[in-house]
Amino acid sequence: MIDLRSDTVTRPTPAMRRAMAEAEVGDDVYGEDPTVNQLEERAAEIFEKEAALFVPTGSMGNQIAIKLHTRPGSEVIIEERGHIFNYEMAAMAVISGALARPVRSRDASGHLAWDEIAAALHVGGPYYLAPTRLVALENTHNLAGGTVMPRAQMEDICRRAHALGIAVHLDGARIFNAAVALDERVAALAGPADSVMFCLSKGLGAPVGSMLLGSADFIREARAVRKLLGGGMRQAGVLAAAALIALEESPPRLYEDHLKARRLAEALAQMRGVRLDLTRVVTNIVICDVSETKQGAEAICARLRERGVLASNFGQQIRFVTHYDVSHEEIERAIIAFKEALD
Ligand SMILES: *Cc1c(COP(=O)(O)O)cnc(C)c1O
Repeated sequence: MIDLRSDTVTRPTPAMRRAMAEAEVGDDVYGEDPTVNQLEERAAEIFEKEAALFVPTGSMGNQIAIKLHTRPGSEVIIEERGHIFNYEMAAMAVISGALARPVRSRDASGHLAWDEIAAALHVGGPYYLAPTRLVALENTHNLAGGTVMPRAQMEDICRRAHALGIAVHLDGARIFNAAVALDERVAALAGPADSVMFCLSKGLGAPVGSMLLGSADFIREARAVRKLLGGGMRQAGVLAAAALIALEESPPRLYEDHLKARRLAEALAQMRGVRLDLTRVVTNIVICDVSETKQGAEAICARLRERGVLASNFGQQIRFVTHYDVSHEEIERAIIAFKEALD
């Protein structure tokens, strides 16, 4: 199967398997796992943040950050298609007692500009409005098609939010992809945010895990919330060993995933009835709209599956995510399969 449903399907490389087998471990709830400690130090160094925390999932990392940045009865501004709003159940309501205030970006990139955020803020207003405590940004923006938020926009939003006493959390599940596409360092993109989460288990290829980063105080509290949520892991060094390899070795080859996505997008864009905005395909995600084919995205995905290709459908859209476990040659086969699925 050529699995283009997500970059989470990547399997650990032989080097990761070896490192996992040989990892030095201890009990991380006691802070005694040397490999986890090394991973946290290395991630903090790369992101130029004071501290980092290894968490089982990106969702947990995001939710820990929300818990720390908000109070029950406060609001979190987020783009309407954001992962935190759509794919983390109602976690911020359940865990933090916070209310998401979704704002639809007017830009097709899915990234909010400050004026759009400002229009939804509650600061210093009447007491019966729930105060805004947090702005949650996403780079790359998954549901908008892996689009990137440039550094200047990120800096502008953070500066203005901070001036109003509002924190900014960056859901950087694919921040390394954004850094490649923008030719920036991840530290520069994440720098102005109070906290950032990134996934090791997606395009970076680690089997499990994400990192949450921020100030030393923030991460000290985050460690307690991780435990509260049941995320205190013991000999997690087995996982951190693979993650360390992912962190060092994967970022330099992400551009390959972007080339594959580009090739796929250019081929799909030429097929009849397929609508796709090529300007938005800058990382490893390709989303196309197939409503004009009158065949239904679900039916097309079913026919793709019969031809050995897996993709995801949302409404009349189909999403493909490229990664290192799909070769250039398999992308060519996926293109042929798509053509056949439409005919
Ligand atoms: C995958 C993803 C997450 C976290 O997902 P988990 O499956 O919980 O690790 C968060 N944000 C975005 C944008 C994602 O794509």
